[in-house]
Amino acid sequence: MTTAASNNSVPAAAVREISRRRTFAIISHPDAGKTTLTEKLLLYGGAIGLAGSVTSKKEQQSTSSDWMAMEKERGISVSSTVLQFEYNACCVNLLDTPGHHDFSEDTYRVLSAVDAAVMVIDAGKGIEAQTLKLFDVCRRRGVPIFVFINKMDRPSRPPLELLDELETVLKLAPAPVNWPLGDGPRFRGVFDRQKGEVNLFEKTAHGAFKAPLEVAGIDDETVRASLDEDLYETVTSELEMIDGLTEPLDIEKVIAGEQMPIYFGSAMNNFGVQNMLESFLDLAPAPTGRFNNGEMVAPTTNNFSGFVFKIQANMNPRHRDRAVFIRIVSGVFERDMQVVDQRTGKKVRLANAQKLFGQGRETLDTAYAGDVLALIGNYNFLIGDTLTSDPKVTYDEMPRFTPECFAYILNNDTAAIKRYRSGMEQLMKEGVAQAYTVHGSSQAVPMLGAVGPLQFEVLRARLESEYNVPTRLETPPWSVVQWFKENEPDTNRREQDPPKVHLPSGAAIARDQDNNWVVLLSSKYMVSVLHDRNEHLTFR
Ligand code: GDP
Repeated sequence: MTTAASNNSVPAAAVREISRRRTFAIISHPDAGKTTLTEKLLLYGGAIGLAGSVTSKKEQQSTSSDWMAMEKERGISVSSTVLQFEYNACCVNLLDTPGHHDFSEDTYRVLSAVDAAVMVIDAGKGIEAQTLKLFDVCRRRGVPIFVFINKMDRPSRPPLELLDELETVLKLAPAPVNWPLGDGPRFRGVFDRQKGEVNLFEKTAHGAFKAPLEVAGIDDETVRASLDEDLYETVTSELEMIDGLTEPLDIEKVIAGEQMPIYFGSAMNNFGVQNMLESFLDLAPAPTGRFNNGEMVAPTTNNFSGFVFKIQANMNPRHRDRAVFIRIVSGVFERDMQVVDQRTGKKVRLANAQKLFGQGRETLDTAYAGDVLALIGNYNFLIGDTLTSDPKVTYDEMPRFTPECFAYILNNDTAAIKRYRSGMEQLMKEGVAQAYTVHGSSQAVPMLGAVGPLQFEVLRARLESEYNVPTRLETPPWSVVQWFKENEPDTNRREQDPPKVHLPSGAAIARDQDNNWVVLLSSKYMVSVLHDRNEHLTFR
C-alpha cells in the first residue's frame, strides 16, 4: 500500500513527482553574486549550454533571467523569473528575485512561493543591509536557509569571523558543510567536511565551463604541496576549531529554522557551485504545504490548489501579453482544467499554461505541487488569489508591506488618457505600487505608495515603453502611513466621511486600496504626536 491508496491523495506516480521537486529562491544583497550563481546553476542543470562568462549587468550583458531593458540600463534585476531544470533525480524550480531594496515587495512575494532559500554572501563584506531584511522575511515565513559565501577568490574576511557574524546577527547555528583553504590569490580550494575530501581550486577561463574537480584527502601530498606551510597550519587548526565550535549538520534543525548549512566557493569561477547544488538538493525539503484556516494542506492532496504570487504584463514586447504566476500547493495541474478563483467565486479554465525560460516558452500539459505555473493570457486574477478545485481552501499567503515613499504619477499627454488609465490599472494589478485616495485632495488620480522610489521609476518606464504614455512625477509631502481602528466606532458616521482624527500639522487622512482609512504623516517624528493626540484610536 502506498499513500496513493487513500481517496484523498494523488496517485503514486504523482506522489513520486512531487517528492522529487525542489523549489527555491536565491537571495542576496545586490552585487553579492546572485545572478552569477544562478547562471552557473543553470549550466549544471543543462538549461543553458554555456554560462555567460561574466555576468556583469553593468557591462550590459544580458542573462537568461533578464527580461527588461531597464534591468540592463540600471544594472539591477527588476522582474523575478522562474526557471525549471532537471538535475540528478530532482526537478528543480529556481525562482529569481530582484536584489535591490526598492523591489523587495516583489521579492517578499516570491519568497511565499518557495520551500527553501539560498542566501549569497560576499565573503569580503559579510552580512549587508538587504541580506538581513531578506533573512527576516524568510524566518517569518519559516523558509529554511542555506548560505553560500561567495567570492573566495578575492580577499575575504576571516572565515571564522564570518561564521561568528552569521551566528550572532542571524541567531542561527552555522553548520559549515565545507571550509575554505585560503582566500584571494591564496585561495586553493575547499575541504568538504562531510566527505573528508579537499577539492582543489583550478581557475578555468572565466568559469565558463563546469569546473574540473581534483579531489584528495587533507593529508594528501598534492594538498600539502599546493598550500604554503603557514596556510596549511591555519586551515588544519581552523578545522579543529570548527569541529569543536559548531554543531554537526542536522537537516531537521535546518528545516525547523535553527541551523543553516554554510558553503564557501566562488560563483564566478564556478568553484564550489556543483557541490553546493548537490548537497542542497539532497538536504532541501520537497514541496511543503500551506495553511488553510490554520490547517496544513499537504502537497499530495488530490484536489488541485495554488495561489497567485506574481503578475507581469508585457514580458515579451513581441507578444504583448500577461503572465500570472501560481505556486501549486497541492495536487496535479492538467491543461484545460477548471478551477475556482476563491476571491470572485468564478470558475476559470486554465488553458494556456506555459513553461518559461527567459524569452523562450513551451506549452505545459502537466505540473505538480511545488511547481510554478505561468498562465499566459487575459486572466482576471489578482496577487494573492487562491485557485482551487476544493471550495473549502483559501490561502492567505500574501503579505502587504508598509510603503516608505509616496508619489503621484501624472499623465503628460491628454491624448493618452485612455492608455494611461489602462496602463495604470494593469500595473496596479501587478502590485507594482499601492494606491491611496487622499481625502479632500484636488488630484484626480490616486497617490501611489511603494517600498522604494525605484518602483515609481519602473512604473513610469513601463507606462512609457509599454503603453506609450509620457508621465511626470510629483512628490506629495508625506512619507509615513499609519493604519488605525476606532476604539468605539461612530455608528452615525456616513461611509464616505472619515473618522474623527486629531491630525498633527502637515498630516492628511486617506483611504488605502482596500478602503481602510489611514493617516499620512510628513515624517516619522510625527508618529508619536499622532498617537498621543488620539487615544480614542488604536494604531496598527
Ligand atoms: P547580484 O547583484 O547579486 O546578482 O550580483 P552579480 O552576480 O551581478 O555579481 C556582482 C559582481 O560580482 C559581478 O561583477 C560579478 O562578476 C562579480 N562576482 C560574482 N561572483 C564572483 C566571484 O566568485 N568572484 C569574483 N571575484 N567576482 C564575482
